[in-house]
Amino acid sequence: MCGVFGVTNIDNASKIAYLGLFALQHRGQESAGISSTDETEIISHRNTGLVIDVFKETNLVKLKGNHAIGHVRYSTAGGNSEANIQPLTARIGGVPVSLSHNGNIVNSEEIRKYLESTGAILQATSDTELILHLMARSGKTAFVAKLMDAFEELLGAFSILLLTPTHLYAAVDTCGYRPLSLGKIKNNSKKPSWVLTSETCALDLVEAEFIRDIAPGELLSIELSSGKIESRLFNLAASQSKKIPHAKCIFEHVYFSRPDSLVWNMLVNDTRYAMGVELAKNYPVKADMVIAVPDSGIPMAMGYASASGIPFKIGLIRNHYVGRTFIEPTQNDRNFKVRLKLNPVRETIKGKSVIVIDDSIVRGTTSQKIIELLREAGAKEVHMRVASPPVKYPCFYGIDTPKRQDLLAQVMTENEMNDYLKSDTLAFLSENQLLTVMQSFQQQQNEQPDPKTQTSGWCIACFSGQYQDQVAQKMGCIELWEGQNA
Ligand code: AMP
Repeated sequence: MCGVFGVTNIDNASKIAYLGLFALQHRGQESAGISSTDETEIISHRNTGLVIDVFKETNLVKLKGNHAIGHVRYSTAGGNSEANIQPLTARIGGVPVSLSHNGNIVNSEEIRKYLESTGAILQATSDTELILHLMARSGKTAFVAKLMDAFEELLGAFSILLLTPTHLYAAVDTCGYRPLSLGKIKNNSKKPSWVLTSETCALDLVEAEFIRDIAPGELLSIELSSGKIESRLFNLAASQSKKIPHAKCIFEHVYFSRPDSLVWNMLVNDTRYAMGVELAKNYPVKADMVIAVPDSGIPMAMGYASASGIPFKIGLIRNHYVGRTFIEPTQNDRNFKVRLKLNPVRETIKGKSVIVIDDSIVRGTTSQKIIELLREAGAKEVHMRVASPPVKYPCFYGIDTPKRQDLLAQVMTENEMNDYLKSDTLAFLSENQLLTVMQSFQQQQNEQPDPKTQTSGWCIACFSGQYQDQVAQKMGCIELWEGQNA
């Protein structure tokens, strides 16, 4: 997963981009980069590491100009080699461009083979570089037409920012898997200062107001000299032929995004709270307290506590300096990292029956370790409640999920998981219960359900295995076959 951020028409644009990336750090911790323009050239600085380590005052000063884009990354495609650090830069038809991409292109192998077989020399192994090549190959002369041509070749998830010395472009794929929001910084000039960001928490830090989300299949262009905005739709024929359903990633709300972000105009804190309420309604159990697996579990546990009348307590403390446990290379490391990251509050838990609320179970490492830690701390009973359905299928649209055979729910039934995790009881929100929660928020904002889907416009492929396109469906089958033959 990644985070993208862009800003126009502001002094020290690179410093604003730095702040934006800092607010989006949770979306990727492997590498960070910023490109800026003074409307003649594009200058970039990028490296592996956290935003705070990659950029020093001296780097930011060199990133001149009033317009900038940035990127934070953790790799879901192509590994974490230096060539994959974004923004990626190139010259297309003599125009310097810089590209930041969030999401995963599912037909990248096919495009890569085609490009290589027709003479392209590729430097990176990620899917992002392919977009630049497709643009360069477009027979069209207008820059926007090249972009639209490239987008029409891509299948899968992309929320993109592209900077040239004259324009900042923003685009979201026709399914709309990943969020991208437009904001505006107040200024006294006639030229507006626009902000584009993966999540609105970054708008708050740079004191910008939220304007709207970029729509699925929209290409927005901002003319840097005037701040004028234009919007177009690409892939129109395919979307209108009802072949492409909207498919917002539901996992953004379950786990990925920050709770203070409006994601598709729904406050994540509120959707998580409502998931907790739904869990309490459907899976009640007697206990002394409700505790959360921090951070994403906190609003969920508060919702569960309020709906059940059982007090919410702080039962697990998170050490914030460890980083996300999921991205560790080996299972052993991950096990230890859970202990490093989460510590039970022994005095609160001892002798009590506790309901533990987490957002998801993927490999099961976190829950297994937490239950063990709670029992060591003297918990009498541990009831696990999970605010999403069991994750059974890999994501090919940008969330870093393990291979299918490593997903706990792929190899065990819910009863078997309960035994394996050593919980007293275990329950998950079902697909329908989770969708009902999200639909209630969509109704509040009068969002019409997309008639092309059964899932009100959400992608729930990691739970259902129903991918939005045949390429991902086939990738899922190949992975299953490889897993069985491993
Ligand atoms: P696991 O230990 O593999 O079951 O991972 C589940 C825990 O990791 C949950 O507590 C989630 O908060 C978190 N999680 C879920 N999905 C991801 C992801 N794609 N990347 C990082 N952490 C995740």
